[in-house]
Amino acid sequence: MAVRVLITDPVDKLLIEKLSQYNVQIDYRPDIERKELLDIIKDYDILVVRSRTKVDKEVIERGTNLKLIARAGIGLDNIDTEEAGKRGIKVVYAPGASTDSAAELTIALLLAAARNLYESIALAKSGVFKKTQGIELAGKTIGIIGFGRIGSKVAQVAKAIGMHVLAYDVLDVRERAKQIGAEVVDMEDLLRRSDVISLHVTVGKNPPKILDARAFDLMKEGVIIINTSRAAVVDGPALLENLNRGKVGVYATDVFWNEPPKEQWEWEILKHPKVIVTPHIGAQTKEAQLRVAHMTADNLVSAMKELGLI
Ligand code: NAD
Repeated sequence: MAVRVLITDPVDKLLIEKLSQYNVQIDYRPDIERKELLDIIKDYDILVVRSRTKVDKEVIERGTNLKLIARAGIGLDNIDTEEAGKRGIKVVYAPGASTDSAAELTIALLLAAARNLYESIALAKSGVFKKTQGIELAGKTIGIIGFGRIGSKVAQVAKAIGMHVLAYDVLDVRERAKQIGAEVVDMEDLLRRSDVISLHVTVGKNPPKILDARAFDLMKEGVIIINTSRAAVVDGPALLENLNRGKVGVYATDVFWNEPPKEQWEWEILKHPKVIVTPHIGAQTKEAQLRVAHMTADNLVSAMKELGLI
């Protein structure tokens, strides 16, 4: 009997084509509602999702025949991996597939923040040719929190621009930092010395508030903060207060606490003139999406072979 695969989010057709080469029956339901998913999930061996479908405890409990869950993406935020693990369900995804794309967006946000591009472009488009003054990045210090794949790629580009790079990570990143020419520091040092702070951490279910009220107090006046990792690591109300008093010069982010915002303070941050927001597009490039599809399909096929499903 063919292995039954349910796909509940829009995925690249390449992923479906790769899976179709095996003895599998694929049901592609990218618009399925949660209620129906809960009703039918028991009939499937494999569930493939992107970010829309929340694969929580309830979905996993109802999926009594599930053997594999695949996330066509680089993180596992929307999957209860602990619950899947308890039930012996293997989870695969595509880590690192969008490193270059996310790093490049970070640099785009960095340059936009330094040169007030968001303001200048809006003014020019409205017919107002007013010159706004920005800052040069060469010679400035960037503090990178989370010196993994994306953080270290951003560091390489920042070095090329002529910035001094500080690195902080919970792991030992001395060797990687040495190769790039970054200085490994503790968090307090990074907060005190950085003109720009860029967040690149991966965090689990209960993310720590890395930038809280105390952290903002330690920062330089007018600091630029870039966040393309996770909004939850920033204390939103504390950020708003520090934007309002000018301590934070610009907050440029690709990630929001709720996307779209729900809380009043989130709306205030979104509308703040010193905030640049993009709608979680770090991985939204042709190349990254193709890489995600390839990697997810390859990891899925390997896992299916490992489990004797094909
Ligand atoms: P990675 O695992 O390669 O690196 C993350 C680093 O963060 C690791 O070195 C880890 O030790 C470090 N870290 C974890 N907790 C920390 C803490 N509390 N303080 C300091 N360091 C800490 O991950 P990556 O591929 O570089 O991704 C980084 C982040 O970017 C992730 O949160 C990922 O979800 C996000 N991301 C976002 C987009 C987007 O669309 N905006 C795209 C890709 C990745």
